[in-house]
Amino acid sequence: MSMSTSALFARHALLPEGWRADVLLEWDERGDLSSVRPGADALAGVEKADYVLPGMINLHSHAFQRAMAGLAERAGSSEDSFWTWRELMYRFAGRITPEQMEAVAAQLQVECLRHGYTAICEFHYVQRDPGGALYANPAETALRIAAAARRSGIGLTLLPVMYGYAGFGEQPLKPGQQRFRTDPELVLRIVEALEAQRGPQLEVGAAPHSLRAASAGQLRELVAGLPAGRPLHIHIAEQQLEVQQCLEVLGARPVDYLMERVEVDGRWCLVHATHLSDGEVAALAASGAVAGLCPTTEANLGDGLFPLAPYLAAGGVFGIGSDSHVSQSPVEELRWLEYGQRLARRQRNIAVDDACRDVGTYLWRQALRGGAQTSGRAVGRLAAGRRADLLVLDGAHPNLDGLDTGEVLGRFLFCGNDNLVRDVLAGGRWVVRDGRHVDQDAVARRYTQAVRALRAM
Ligand code: ZN
Repeated sequence: MSMSTSALFARHALLPEGWRADVLLEWDERGDLSSVRPGADALAGVEKADYVLPGMINLHSHAFQRAMAGLAERAGSSEDSFWTWRELMYRFAGRITPEQMEAVAAQLQVECLRHGYTAICEFHYVQRDPGGALYANPAETALRIAAAARRSGIGLTLLPVMYGYAGFGEQPLKPGQQRFRTDPELVLRIVEALEAQRGPQLEVGAAPHSLRAASAGQLRELVAGLPAGRPLHIHIAEQQLEVQQCLEVLGARPVDYLMERVEVDGRWCLVHATHLSDGEVAALAASGAVAGLCPTTEANLGDGLFPLAPYLAAGGVFGIGSDSHVSQSPVEELRWLEYGQRLARRQRNIAVDDACRDVGTYLWRQALRGGAQTSGRAVGRLAAGRRADLLVLDGAHPNLDGLDTGEVLGRFLFCGNDNLVRDVLAGGRWVVRDGRHVDQDAVARRYTQAVRALRAM
């Protein structure tokens, strides 16, 4: 009997109800799980795995920034190093071609898959040409991100960004921001142009960039024009200065302001909800929206710490993203999410609740929940009808050998830096085998060529 390519037998798998033994997972040609059966018999010819997890959702990405990750780590003349980073980012954003964007995105997505992300939400704001004109097809660069995802195999939520202003109070865009210039009408046109690509591996939503870049009127117009139920993401309260200016110019804190102007519900993701008042913590948690946390980027940019403990106590939902791509690993995001809280509170084991006292298990499952919700796609659970997105951990690695299932995620998230993700299935396709992406070398070649050219421009 030949090895079945559409089934996997997991000695242990993390199902919605918890770890279960002897789980037979099967998927169909569309890439959806058709059956997930614990307590099954190991059939001859079906591949076996030790520990199987649902793949993680990366809820916030600006793919092109992968090309500059790690290159802004020199002190500039300004005290605020955020601005030196943004200068470099604008330089890359101002030059990058659609072909280069596709090459960089593919590399990023391959790296994300290799580390355990099987889905990504692309907050896509470089949409015009370097001169600030529209491409013949205004969805040109968005389609490049989609093409990269088809190549890498990662599930994609594509979020064309509405970017109208340089700052609070409708300040005109600066020269370095002309490639980002959009209004609700143009974003909805781009969304429309992407409709034909929608399917189980690709969802399309929209993203007002921030309250700095979108007026209240534009917010309402965009929300009203987007087809019902589609994901909406926004950068909300990343820097203290941003909160201060929002208060001064708009007369309210960012989350309060947003919630007063549009109905913030479960289809919203508030990215970098870093600086919240107690009232905003409660309101955001009660809204059912997802707090989009990007701990390595927020640390890298010196943003601050999200009030995780009160937010979780209020029943808030969160997910994780790699944003500027200083890390491509969900392990590192979740580790630093927890470590930041421990350092600030001088306590241990923050991210738990009464039902789950294991930090690793709690973090993985909660980030799956929030990420899945805000992706708008049927992901995040090993259950029939969901995408066949899963990770096989390397059960032979010394870190995992002989563990009880309750210990696996603690080891996975909090021990060492070896990548324990051995194989990755995304949309029913084995895209990573033995730690290597199936198209890894070709993708890396195109990436290095693109970045060399980009840096020489
Ligand atoms: Zn961002």
